[in-house]
Amino acid sequence: MLDDDASSPDPRPDSGIEGEQAERKIARYRIRVLLPLPLPEALDYLAPEEIDAGSFVRVPLGQRSLVGVVWDGTGDELPAARLKPMLEALPAPKLRPELRRFVERVAAYTMAPPGAVLRMTMSAPEALEPPRPRRLCAASDAGLAALADSPPGKTLTPTRRRVIEVLRGGPPLPAAELARLAACGAGVVRDLLTAGFVEEHLAPPEPSHIAPANWRLSGPALSPDQSAAARRLVDNIEAGGFSATVLDGVTGSGKTETYFAALAAALAAGRQVLVLLPEIALGAQWLERFRQRFGVLPAQWHSDIGQAERRDTWRAVAAGRARVVVGARSALFLPFPELGLIVVDEEHDPSYKQEDGVCYQARDMAVLRASLADVPIILVSATLSLETVVNIARGRYGRVALPRRHAAAELPAVQLIDLRRERIERGRFLAPPLAGELAATFEAGEQALLFLNRRGYAPLTLCRACGHRFQCPSCTAWLVEHRFTGRLLCHHCGHAEALPPCCPECLTAGALVPCGPGVERLLEEVTERFPRVRAALMVSDLLPGPRAAAELAQGMIERRYDVLIGTQLVAKGHHFPMLTLVGVVDADLGLAGGDLRAAERTYQLLHQVGGRAGRAERKGRVLIQTWMPDQPVMKALASDERDRFLEAEAAARRQAGLPPFGRLAALIVSAADAETSDFTARALARAAPQLPGVTVLGPAPAPLAVLRGRHRRRFLVKAGREVRLQPILRDWLSRVRVAGSARIQIDIDPYSFL
Ligand code: ADP
Ligand code: ZN
Repeated sequence: MLDDDASSPDPRPDSGIEGEQAERKIARYRIRVLLPLPLPEALDYLAPEEIDAGSFVRVPLGQRSLVGVVWDGTGDELPAARLKPMLEALPAPKLRPELRRFVERVAAYTMAPPGAVLRMTMSAPEALEPPRPRRLCAASDAGLAALADSPPGKTLTPTRRRVIEVLRGGPPLPAAELARLAACGAGVVRDLLTAGFVEEHLAPPEPSHIAPANWRLSGPALSPDQSAAARRLVDNIEAGGFSATVLDGVTGSGKTETYFAALAAALAAGRQVLVLLPEIALGAQWLERFRQRFGVLPAQWHSDIGQAERRDTWRAVAAGRARVVVGARSALFLPFPELGLIVVDEEHDPSYKQEDGVCYQARDMAVLRASLADVPIILVSATLSLETVVNIARGRYGRVALPRRHAAAELPAVQLIDLRRERIERGRFLAPPLAGELAATFEAGEQALLFLNRRGYAPLTLCRACGHRFQCPSCTAWLVEHRFTGRLLCHHCGHAEALPPCCPECLTAGALVPCGPGVERLLEEVTERFPRVRAALMVSDLLPGPRAAAELAQGMIERRYDVLIGTQLVAKGHHFPMLTLVGVVDADLGLAGGDLRAAERTYQLLHQVGGRAGRAERKGRVLIQTWMPDQPVMKALASDERDRFLEAEAAARRQAGLPPFGRLAALIVSAADAETSDFTARALARAAPQLPGVTVLGPAPAPLAVLRGRHRRRFLVKAGREVRLQPILRDWLSRVRVAGSARIQIDIDPYSFL
């Protein structure tokens, strides 16, 4: 019923006779084992002895053997004779009750199979196995003798000689490292091992690189505002127990320094701390500040870390050696034994919402985790989400405020540029006032930032001769020209093709024209207008990883660049003292489409970007180009009236019964062909719940009607806040048969409506 369920194999262990014998011989205890698979529930097995809930065990399933977790309670219906014995218990630390309850609660809320949630707690499978010794390569006597042979090359090729030379000079090395140093393929090392010129030694596993944070170091002296805020956060930690507190401070007010004080208090109390950040790629400055404050880098957890580090970090967290973990949303599922504090920085950030697989909102689930662990949580932002504002108003969250920027820094002045009144040349995108301010900024030796939330060169490429537009073959989306890499890309599925020299439809050469700006095109305009200015592009597809992004940020701090041009990568977390001008090139971009949070998000994003300006002594300016200067968001940005904007936004949502005043759930039907998708959608529509206070909208083709070749239809379920949607949805889905390639994905509290 849920994603994948329909196609999963029959979960019941099958055999009769084998099970009977096993039972007579060894197995006397029934256990329930939750496997990291999208199955509806835990499966029953037999164990030779009593095994505690939470233990990791290996069990058979069909032809496979899998690692799962012994779950609470006992299975019921199946006779012991039909159960299979488990295979072995793994020596990993047990999954604690608190984390098991968390898995169950997340599964129940998101309507994902519990095993799919469990899988997120087991995302470093190797960590569950006993640490393996390392295999290191050393030169054998035969190898060294062959090296001494003359003339060189008689017994060894030049490449092989190089390998043995590397080993002769230094310590034993892992094969991969050896191949790298000798600049040869892995095959060469393997051949040398087989030939006996190189031999393998076993060494103990590598010690963990994770060092404990030193909370005894003292941070900077806090301002009176900061001290008062820090005091309240520390009080909560000392009081113990669950509490949710919002740290609501303007950009540059020192929110990070302030919550570091809470972190130090939790560490001093002997507890572990989890800090969630939206995108770890942007965490370079954050990491450096942490290192300055606590003497070491924290453990990190995000999609970019390698297998080995993932394994080490998981173990270090489980063993309590990692005292502070900073990570993206998936860090929420790490097995902390002594969790004492959770911090969610930039709590409003939309990337906390996971949209595929298990659809969950990490900020909300972080509050759940803190409450199950009975520890404080701090939500931090300069642009609070409406959900959080309403939770403060309802008294569920406390609030501490930092209303002023730190030291002499002032908040920047914001000015709107009304594009309806400006004359801009064709193919250019900077209106005269913004171009003028840029010139003045460069003149003064200061730095600028241009923000445009669009990757690539142009969002649409079209043939001037025949009107042909480039479309993705598997999505309802235009292809975006990326001039630097010479490709047309689909931003939804990653499909790429080369930009052809002539129109593929009418074959006219030189008729393809880009429409609209992307950051690459903006860079072109800046370098044309200001030939001497050093410009840098900060955009994910041109930066190979977080280190490159950090390098670029460092370049800004060291003033190797005069202007940074970027997408939302530039909006968050950066602190560039000489940056005084921020230009928003197209403020209206995020307002299109039917997203209920469009205005809120636009406010958050543009306010955050603007917050990069004037963070040190020099006053900052923010210029916002818009076609809709009368839009409430634009007015709120210009007058810095966040609270009034939020009130108006809240009133509108309350009126419409939308979150956080009402509940929403999305059902997305998808199938390999349009017929199956429509057929399933119609079946769902016929079975739709008819309950007072519950409205079902749809089915309608999704705005992204085809995504990765799958045809999508959407339902939206709306209800009052007092209604629990999950049982209603469960009942609805149980009455519909899902056939063939069709899948139904449930998204509780959806953020994306595409
Ligand atoms: P926010 O997270 O609220 O945007 P930050 O914590 O990044 O603000 O602080 C902005 C800048 O001010 C940083 O460079 C930070 O090091 C500095 N800062 C903040 N508070 C203090 C303080 N008490 N003493 C010294 N520097 C501070
Ligand atoms: Zn596509």
